[in-house]
Amino acid sequence: MAYITLNKNNFFNNLDIIAKQTKTKDKIALVLKDNAYGHGLKEMATLASEYGIQKAVVRTDAEAKSIEKFFEYILVLCDIPTNNCTKLRYTINDLATIHLFPKGTLVELKVDSGMHRNGIAMSELKSAFCKIKENELILEAVFTHHRSADELSSEWFWQKNTFKKIKKESIALAKEFGFGALRFHSSNSAALFRHTSFDEDMARVGIAAYGCMQFPNALKIEGLQPILSLYANKISSRELHKGECIGYGGTYEAKQNCIVSNYNFGYADGFLRNLSNRYTTPKGVELVGRISMDNSSFLSDDEEILVFNDAREIATSADTISYEILTSLKSYIKRDII
Ligand SMILES: *Cc1c(COP(=O)(O)O)cnc(C)c1O
Repeated sequence: MAYITLNKNNFFNNLDIIAKQTKTKDKIALVLKDNAYGHGLKEMATLASEYGIQKAVVRTDAEAKSIEKFFEYILVLCDIPTNNCTKLRYTINDLATIHLFPKGTLVELKVDSGMHRNGIAMSELKSAFCKIKENELILEAVFTHHRSADELSSEWFWQKNTFKKIKKESIALAKEFGFGALRFHSSNSAALFRHTSFDEDMARVGIAAYGCMQFPNALKIEGLQPILSLYANKISSRELHKGECIGYGGTYEAKQNCIVSNYNFGYADGFLRNLSNRYTTPKGVELVGRISMDNSSFLSDDEEILVFNDAREIATSADTISYEILTSLKSYIKRDII
C-alpha cells in the first residue's frame, strides 16, 4: 500500500505565517473538512491542537464529533445537529432550512455576498433574523465566502464592501431582535492574505495551512511549505524491449530496452487517471502507460518512489487544483507524522 508522510515542521511553519497575518493564533479556524484536505482528520487535529489552535471548521456533524476533544470551537458548514454540544456551531445556508435546527442550537448565518452558491440573500437578512428568533436558535455569527480572493482583480474589493454592508445591517438587526454581540468572518486562505490589516473575528484557513495555496505571482506569499508527501512501493519489475507496450490499451511503447516497475498506487487510491502517460515525479521518474485501479507503472527499478511532495505540481500536470489532488487521497492510506 502507498503511504503518506506529514511534515510537522512545515505545518507549524505555515501556522506561524498565518498567525502573523491574523495577529493571534486564536483567530485561526483551521479548516479540517474532507479528511483535512486528505491529510487525515485525526492526525491534523492532533497536530493543530499541539500547536495551540482552538478553532476548527468541518463539513459534517460526524466530523465535528470525532475531533471535539481537540478544540474549543467547531463550525459545521453543512449539517443539522443530532444532539446538543456547546462547542459546535451550525451553519444556516438557506432560509428554508432554519426550522430544521433543534431549539437552542448555536448557529452562524451564512450570507451570500456575491458568490451565489450558499447563504441567504442580503435582502432576506431581516426574515432570517426573525425566523432564527421564532425557532429559538442562538445566533452567534454572520459570515460570507469570497468567490475570487485568489485572483488579481477588483472582485475581492466589491465583495468585501458588500460584506461591510451586511455587517452593518446585522449589527442593527441583532439589537432589534435581542441577540448578543455577533462575530463576523469572511476570509478563507486567499482572502486572509489580501487584508493589509486583518480585523475580523476569525479566518477560516484551509489550503494555506496545508502549504498548497496557489496565487498569481503579484500576490504570492513566501514561505508556505507543503506538508503531505505520497510514496508508493514496488509490486513487480520487468524488462521491456524496444517496441513493447505496457498497461491497458498498450498506450506506452518502449523507445528502447528499459526496466519498468509497477507500484501500489492507482486511481482507486486517489491517483487521478488522467495523469496517465503525462506525469514525471519530482525526482524525474516517468509515469508510463495507463494508471490502473490499484497500481501504476514507472520507468524505475527502485523499491519505493516518491510520487509527489507538492500537490500544486501534480495538479498542474492534471489540469486541476491542489485541493482535488489532496482530497482524492483515500482515508485508508497510512499517514505518518514525521
Ligand atoms: C473550504 C472552505 C474554506 C477554506 O478555504 P481555503 O481556500 O482552503 O482556505 C473557508 N470557508 C468555507 C466556507 C469553506 O467552504
